[in-house]
Amino acid sequence: MGGATARVPAKINLHLGVGPLRDDGFHELSTLYCALSLYDEVTVRAADDLSVTVRGESRRQVPADATNLAARAVVALATHAGTDPRVAITIAKNIPVAGGMAGGSADAAGALVAAARLWRLDITRDELLAIAADLGSDVPFSVVGGAALGTGRGERLLPVLHRGELHWVLAVAGTGLSTPDVYREIDRLRARDEDQPTAAGTARPDPLLQALASGDVHAVAPLLHNDLQPAALSLQPMLRRTLRAGREAGALAGIVSGSGPTCAFLCADADAAVSVAAELSGSGVAKAVRTASGPVPGARLVPIN
Ligand code: ATP
Repeated sequence: MGGATARVPAKINLHLGVGPLRDDGFHELSTLYCALSLYDEVTVRAADDLSVTVRGESRRQVPADATNLAARAVVALATHAGTDPRVAITIAKNIPVAGGMAGGSADAAGALVAAARLWRLDITRDELLAIAADLGSDVPFSVVGGAALGTGRGERLLPVLHRGELHWVLAVAGTGLSTPDVYREIDRLRARDEDQPTAAGTARPDPLLQALASGDVHAVAPLLHNDLQPAALSLQPMLRRTLRAGREAGALAGIVSGSGPTCAFLCADADAAVSVAAELSGSGVAKAVRTASGPVPGARLVPIN
């Protein structure tokens, strides 16, 4: 029986502006996504029934049933194609779970790409991206990768110019944060403090786009911004220590990644990232510390494992 494997990157948001709450319960966003070299691998094999197996240290935090986003992706694609979703899905999990790095979205994107190959579907990229958007706001970006401006609830994408590679250190927290909880917290904080002078909202991050196009890491660093950061810090105050430790270790800048709690530290180059990672590992502020670079491409087929 045949099979296919897709490798899919994690994401961070170099800019995350959160606008008002919409009638459909989502917030209007203006975000600059960047795919990083930290990957899950999703393998899809023909089988008698739909099943999910998760491998990796964090496997117990991920549902191994039909609620797994990869399983939901396979079902959505099968419905679109008029076929049966009878596949065995295996996820090799490296992306932190509930870490603000779109791990579930990555697995959904990988499942779409792998299943489309397994079933030899004649599906356009736009059709695939429409199915991806129905599955979750970050899933289209996980398919596309690179660096992209996201609007709407993050699902409407425009590729952006970037030069060179950015080098990052990721501090993974011991306890995850639920994305809906973080959005509820930002609504609560905004209702409490009516004045929001630091919120970027839905404005396009033009200075950051220019800095990214120039490839100057020192210009990018001071422009990193996350409107969700105060909400993530409010729910996990310990993250303040993590952010401080990363800067003290020599990072150019640090931000909470998306809805957190992973903290992402931008470093001057690959050597600086290794040195910041070594120092952060010894500081005890994070459960795990990783280095990664980006932008990297989105979900791609690789030889089956
Ligand atoms: P985002 O950055 O897109 O807001 P996240 O990275 O913070 O999301 P995920 O790792 O996607 O969070 O996990 C969110 C929740 O989704 C988990 O707590 C888990 O129960 C559920 N989930 C369902 N499928 C998956 C999957 N394939 N991988 C990880 N989590 C999954």
